Amino acid sequence: MQTSRRKFVITSLSAGAMLASTMRSHAEGTEVSETDANAKAVGYKARATQVDTAKYPAYKAPQACANCQLYQAKAGSEQGGCPLFGAKTVSAKGWCSAYVKKA
Ligand code: SF4
Repeated sequence: MQTSRRKFVITSLSAGAMLASTMRSHAEGTEVSETDANAKAVGYKARATQVDTAKYPAYKAPQACANCQLYQAKAGSEQGGCPLFGAKTVSAKGWCSAYVKKA
């Protein structure tokens, strides 16, 4: 009887861990590629420090997705949503020419 209960607890914990993992990967989503047409159109870079400042002189450090008004993620997340890219995510350290300083 006790073995059965132990088995149930172990199975439940495993199922919970798998569910949490699935939910986490869904929340993080697929990161938009710099080569996607939409990303290219707005000069998105996954690393703001790699922005072509000759082409995008508006970029000034420490601007990044993490401090952009359009960025949708919990504080401290490495990636989050951006309405410009639908279901795809952007890097917290990224930047694009649609950047708006978070109020
Ligand atoms: Fe990042 Fe803001 Fe550009 Fe979206 S609009 S990619 S959050 S800088």
